[in-house]
Amino acid sequence: MVKKEGVIMSRFIEHFKMNEDDILEYVSEKINYFDENSKLNVREIGDGNINYVFKVWDSNSKKSLIIKHADKLLRSSGRELDVDRNRIEANVLKEQYKECPTIVPKVYLYDPVMCTIVMEDISEYSNLRKELLERKTFPKLADDISSFIVNTTVSTTDIFLDSDVKKRKVAKYINGDLCKISEDLVFTEPYIDYKGRNIISEENLEFIKQNIYNDDRLLLEAGKLKNNFMNNAQALLHGDLHSGSIFVNQNGTKVLDPEFAFYGPIGYDLGNVVGNLFFAWINARVTEQDEKKLEVFESWISATIEDVVDLFKDKFVRYYENKVTDVLAKNTGYMEWYLGEILSDTAGSVGLEIIRRVVGDSKVVDITGIEDKDDRIKAERLLITLGKEMIMNRGAIVNGKDYVNLLKNNSKKNYQKFNLS
Ligand code: ADP
Ligand code: MG
Repeated sequence: MVKKEGVIMSRFIEHFKMNEDDILEYVSEKINYFDENSKLNVREIGDGNINYVFKVWDSNSKKSLIIKHADKLLRSSGRELDVDRNRIEANVLKEQYKECPTIVPKVYLYDPVMCTIVMEDISEYSNLRKELLERKTFPKLADDISSFIVNTTVSTTDIFLDSDVKKRKVAKYINGDLCKISEDLVFTEPYIDYKGRNIISEENLEFIKQNIYNDDRLLLEAGKLKNNFMNNAQALLHGDLHSGSIFVNQNGTKVLDPEFAFYGPIGYDLGNVVGNLFFAWINARVTEQDEKKLEVFESWISATIEDVVDLFKDKFVRYYENKVTDVLAKNTGYMEWYLGEILSDTAGSVGLEIIRRVVGDSKVVDITGIEDKDDRIKAERLLITLGKEMIMNRGAIVNGKDYVNLLKNNSKKNYQKFNLS
């Protein structure tokens, strides 16, 4: 607070980019969470490209909270990005928390002026991507993540919500700037490098030219999937459900960071999860030296890929049968058709996610971290082959086992080194 002409003024009446000291002042002025005699500490712990994340804790009581703060400029590149993303994230976290209170962090406060979300600290959980790279296994992951996707998405669709309510929600969650990022990075640039941002290893340039840039049939299917992403306002999605948005420990699962949320096809969320599990699998297959560790990890991750898809299907059917409200959607064959569309979108999205992380400029450490160049090049080729097949044959990939078999068959056929039994 500052004093102006004898009146005490808050500094937090107009947005500015806050640092750690600002956050301490902000907490003592705005947030009624810590005790009066608390000894507060603060640290910026953000590791993403977009926002600032502060952890604030009291060394006396050990109470803590997280403040996610959006600046008008991107944390990484400094370019402008609409801060409305922070409103969307706060509202979506609240909606998802209602459906899955054990999985989604609780929001204590959303401040539209300073663009902050004050929320539960889930530091006891760790980043799934990093944990998988250490070959840790999480028995509840498939169950938790399939519940999360079914409960948070199906509850927002037309089969369940009143049609007017649903349309108002579609409008509330228009997320232009962030959807445009996905449209470019996931759907367009890996196929047509119109912004010149793709990052491809020298050795795979020709392979990618032949197999992606020059494959008109593939470009057409990517275009259809993009059209579906842009126009199929099926459900309120998380929108960025990669393994860095999922946090885990042996007791459970948390899902963070839904700032890319918008109304889109359910298969986009499910496909993102499955795609990222493939990266962890390939990394283990290529880099793990400990045979026993590899065996345990592979058996768990292949079962998890299978279960995420199959449990999604089971839970979707149960949810639908119990809660469908639309009269026409109760008619014979409708549910099967609806689920079939989701599964086809899922397979397409797995393929898109796999390809974009190899070709585009948002890489994953699961692949870039493969130090042996020859292994990395082969792993990338295997992923591209796999991704293409998923996009091109998406209508026929309907069971968890189909995904696992695709990797097994392709590695046998084309990439002996990764031969899976
Ligand atoms: P960005 O939008 O910039 O990607 P994220 O929401 O992914 O930001 O948060 C960045 C990092 O901050 C996460 O990877 C995690 O380590 C940490 N973080 C974010 N929210 C929480 C939370 N509620 N509890 C604990 N850590 C968090
Ligand atoms: Mg993030």
